Amino acid sequence: MDLELIKKIQNIANNSGGYLTIDLFNENRGDLPTWKTLKAKLRGIGFEEVLKNCDVLTQEEFGIKENRIKAISNMKLVNLEFGELTKTLYDSQKLVPNSSYITKNYGWEDLAKASNVRLANTYLTEEELIKQLKESIKDLGYIPTNDEYRGLNIKPTRSSIESMSLSWTQAMRKAGYKPYGQAVKIKDKICAEHNCYRQFTPHDESEIYCDSCYKALRQRIINQLKNIDKNSLENICQRLILTSSNQKSILNIFNGRIN
Ligand SMILES: [Zn+2]
Repeated sequence: MDLELIKKIQNIANNSGGYLTIDLFNENRGDLPTWKTLKAKLRGIGFEEVLKNCDVLTQEEFGIKENRIKAISNMKLVNLEFGELTKTLYDSQKLVPNSSYITKNYGWEDLAKASNVRLANTYLTEEELIKQLKESIKDLGYIPTNDEYRGLNIKPTRSSIESMSLSWTQAMRKAGYKPYGQAVKIKDKICAEHNCYRQFTPHDESEIYCDSCYKALRQRIINQLKNIDKNSLENICQRLILTSSNQKSILNIFNGRIN
C-alpha cells in the first residue's frame, strides 16, 4: 500500500469519528473506489489488515480505547465517594463499562493503578496470598516462567504479589516451588496426585506423577494383580510388551522364557 493511499484512509477514519468499518469506509470514501473494488486491487487483502497497515482502529478497538477513559473516571468517582474501590461497590453504581468488561479488557488491578486508585487489599495476609499461589500453580500443573506467569492472568496477580513487597521468585519459594534460575528446555510439572504439591522434571511429556506418588501408584497396581484373572493378565502382558519401547528390559524380563 502506498503512502498516499494510507493517508487517504487515515483521513476517512478521522472523518468517520476515529475508526473505520466497511460501511463507514464506503460512505466516506471520497475519491477512492468502494471497498470491494479496492480489495480486488490490493489482491484480496482483508479489511482489518488494511486498517492495521494504516494504523487506524477497528470499531471494537476504538470502543475499548474510549471505554478505558470512561472506566478510569468511574473508578476515581467510586473511590472518592466510598473511600475505597471494589468490584462490588463499582457494580452497585450501575456504571458503564461494568467491572467484568474492565477486567477482561484492561485488567482490574492494572486499570486501578492507572486511575491512581488504591484497591482495598484483597489479601489480608501474606499467608493467604502464598496459599493461593500454591493452589494456582498446582491447578496450572507446571512451573511457568516469570514472564509467562504475567501473561497467564491467574491469581494472585503480579501487582498483588508486589503489594506484599515480594518478588515473584520469593513468593514462589514461599509457596514451596523452585522457579527457574535460567532458561530450561523442559518445564517442571507439579504432581497430578490430589494432595501432592511436589515439583518434578518429567523424563518425557507423558509423566504426570512425581517419583514417590508414581511408586505408590505402582505398588497399588501390584497389590491388585492377584485379583486379576488369567485371561486379563495375559492381555495386560501383551499390551505391555507391545507398547514398551525398551527392547532390553522386555528381553531381560522374558529371558529364558522364549524358545
Ligand atoms: Zn506426588
